[in-house]
Amino acid sequence: MERYGFLGLGIMGSAMAKNLLKAGFQVTVWNRSQDKCAELAALGAAVAATPAEVTASCAITTAMLADPAAAHEVCFAPGGALQGIGAGRGYVDMSTVDAATAIEIGAAIAENGGRFLEAPVSGSKKPAEDGTLIILAAGDRTLFDQTLPLFEKMGKKSLFLGELGRGARMKLIVNMMMGGMMTIFCEGLALAEKAGLAGADLLDVVDSGAIANPMFKLKGGQIAQGVYQPAFPLKHMQKDMRLAVALGDELGQPLFSAAAANESFKRAKAEGMADQDFCAVFKAISS
Ligand code: NAP
Repeated sequence: MERYGFLGLGIMGSAMAKNLLKAGFQVTVWNRSQDKCAELAALGAAVAATPAEVTASCAITTAMLADPAAAHEVCFAPGGALQGIGAGRGYVDMSTVDAATAIEIGAAIAENGGRFLEAPVSGSKKPAEDGTLIILAAGDRTLFDQTLPLFEKMGKKSLFLGELGRGARMKLIVNMMMGGMMTIFCEGLALAEKAGLAGADLLDVVDSGAIANPMFKLKGGQIAQGVYQPAFPLKHMQKDMRLAVALGDELGQPLFSAAAANESFKRAKAEGMADQDFCAVFKAISS
C-alpha cells in the first residue's frame, strides 16, 4: 500500500491528516513544532524528523502551512521537501499563498523530477474536520487525478482550475470577498450598538432576508458572546487580504472595499488579535 505524507499540523492540517488516517491511508506526518504530531501518531501516523524524510518516503506529500514564507521555507530550507522529491513523486501544497509562490515551488519540484499541484481550500476548521472542504487545485493534471482519492476524504468538491497560479488566485478572490463581508458585518453590528439597537435584533433581521448566510449566522453568534477562539486565525485573513490587494495592484483592478477591509484587519492585528478568530476584527472596528 502506498504511503502519503502530510506537512503542517495546524488547525486545518491536523484535521485533514486525521481524515486520511480515519479513511485507512498510511500517513507520515511532520510539523515544525513536534508536539503537534503526538495526536496523529496515536491514530497510527508515522512521524518524520524533516520534510525531506516525508517526501522521500511517500508517493504524494501534501502540505498545509501558514503563509508564503512558511511554504517557501518548508520546501527550500535544508532538509526541506525539495531534497526528498525524486522522480515521479508528488507534492501538493494546500496552503493559501500567492500565485508567484506556487509557481516558484512548482518549478523547483519539476526541476528535481517531481510533480506539483497547488490545492488551497475553501472552508474552515469544521469543514476540515467533517471532510467537506472545497479544493481549488491547479498545476499537474496527472497528480490531481492521482490525489483525488485523498481529496475525496478531505473535501466535498474538488475543482481542477488549469495552470499553476489559478488555484491561488481563485482562493485569494474568495477570501477577499469573505474578509470584506466580515468587516461590513462588524461595522453594522458596531453601528447598531451605538444607535441603541439590540445586536440580536439586527442578527434576526439579517438572517431573515436576502443577505442571510451561514458565516453571518455563525460569527454573529460568536461576536455576541465574545467568543474569539480561532477557527480561522485573524493573521491569516489579513495575509489573504494583503495578497488579494497585491493581485489587484498587479492586474490594475481597483479594490476600494478590499483595501479598506485590509486596513481593519491590520488594525486588529496591531491591537493584539492576530491569533484570535478573524471575527475579532469586530473589537478593532467597534473600539
Ligand atoms: P495554523 O493553525 O496557524 O497552522 C499553521 C501551520 O504552519 C502550523 O503547522 C505551523 O507550524 C506551520 N508553520 C508556520 N510557519 C512555519 C515555518 N516558518 N516553517 C514551518 N512551518 C511553519 O493555520 P491554519 O488555520 O491551519 O491554516 C493553514 C493554511 O490554510 C493557511 O495558509 C490558511 O490561510 C489556510 N486556510 C485556513 C483556514 C482556516 O479556517 N483556518 C481555511 C482555509 C484556508 P507550528 O505548529 O510549528 O507553528
